[in-house]
Amino acid sequence: MKIYTREKEIHELIDTARKVYRQRDARIAGMTDEVVDTFYSCTLCQSFAPNHVCIITPERSGLCGAYNWLDGKAAHKINPTGPNQPVKKGKVIDDLKGQWQNINEFVYNNSHKTLELFNAYSIIEFPMTSCGCFECISCVLPSTNGIMTVHRDFVGMTPVGMKFSTLAGTVGGGLQTPGFVGHSKHYIASNKFISAEGGVKRTVWMNKTLKEEMEPVLHDIGKQQGIENFFEKIADETVAETEEDVLEYITRKKHPALSMPPLF
Ligand code: SF4
Repeated sequence: MKIYTREKEIHELIDTARKVYRQRDARIAGMTDEVVDTFYSCTLCQSFAPNHVCIITPERSGLCGAYNWLDGKAAHKINPTGPNQPVKKGKVIDDLKGQWQNINEFVYNNSHKTLELFNAYSIIEFPMTSCGCFECISCVLPSTNGIMTVHRDFVGMTPVGMKFSTLAGTVGGGLQTPGFVGHSKHYIASNKFISAEGGVKRTVWMNKTLKEEMEPVLHDIGKQQGIENFFEKIADETVAETEEDVLEYITRKKHPALSMPPLF
């Protein structure tokens, strides 16, 4: 292990790491959850969230953003008895919400029999548990019929009335909390991002730096789904600090969440 302390060298290494991550993300970009019969588990975070199990699918990376499906597969080959195990999906219980019989059984047996089922693509109904090292938290803003997403680096107040640290305490530790879900940044760009509730077009608020980082993806999603100026329709902390502010902003911008089916 080598520790770098000079700022210039650190920035060079970050650039190299980002390039590698982009190549890695490109490799899996064309894969869908439907084309594989096996997902990969990750139980690394059980050291601090004993009942948490990540199920990593081609379209949903681990919550921390460090593991995608290919990483899970490679890690299992390197260490067959390690924390990344192949899990056959088995019988589909609900393909819209993302629930499979064998996945439920695996999660039940590996969560110390605390979690009987979860839906990979839902934020409302039995969402996946969250450990603590998730990159982002999304949660419902009920009056807007949409969700907000905050990145862990954002230290300010969010429209749900909690800072990231308080939200993490509510969601983390291996809890299953309807209306709240921890996830990676990469998952926001996935077609399976809370697809049970209509997907990323439910997003009504993001903290500004996250929103700017996701700008190309949000533009693409807007184009694909025929939503004009989707990026501009999403509020951030510079235009909306409370849920009421968000509702006022998205009403003015004619955000698509307002005309989607009710979340509850
Ligand atoms: S958050 Fe990351 S390290 Fe933790 S269990 Fe999930 S994939 Fe593994």
